[in-house]
Amino acid sequence: MTEEATQAETDFDGTDEFWMRQAIALAHRAQLEGEVPVGAVLVRDGELLGEGWNSPIGRHDPSAHAEILALRQAGSRVGNYRLPGTALYVTLEPCPMCAGAIIHARVARVIYGAPDPKAGAAGSRFDLLPSDHRFNHRTQCVGGLLAEECGHLLRSFFAARRKKAKPGPEIPPERHQKPEPAPMAIASREEACQNSC
Ligand code: ZN
Repeated sequence: MTEEATQAETDFDGTDEFWMRQAIALAHRAQLEGEVPVGAVLVRDGELLGEGWNSPIGRHDPSAHAEILALRQAGSRVGNYRLPGTALYVTLEPCPMCAGAIIHARVARVIYGAPDPKAGAAGSRFDLLPSDHRFNHRTQCVGGLLAEECGHLLRSFFAARRKKAKPGPEIPPERHQKPEPAPMAIASREEACQNSC
């Protein structure tokens, strides 16, 4: 076994997988509502404090990402905008907006599923997580938990949307032969919103 594989296995435990599966269930709710399927839960000491699923279209709110909604619900529940000692599980790598809110909320640890090559702020596109010494709070961050499952949800959502958007006779034949994107090359939530707005 390689050192890298050993490290990846020690990044997560059974509890992490349990909570990520809750986040995936919420991502399915987003999908049912026609939103980009991303879900998030915020947990402290084994207790669920907040949950959210992506809903900027339905709420007419550009900030209604799953992570923000989970943070809002948790803040409301505990009566404090600061949420130290919490872990945020989210199916997609957080964007810069959510990374900022996560740091402001003093979240201790972020665990995400699939990377977001278009807008991910945990190293895929921007480097805000894990937070560095320029912030006065350190948030840990690790990705790749159930990444295939989380990514598949997004890829199938965008594939279905592209299929629905394609008017049959007006599409040049070569468009039909276009290969499927690489497994992790998913579109970002921002791109999806642009497409739908
Ligand atoms: Zn976000």
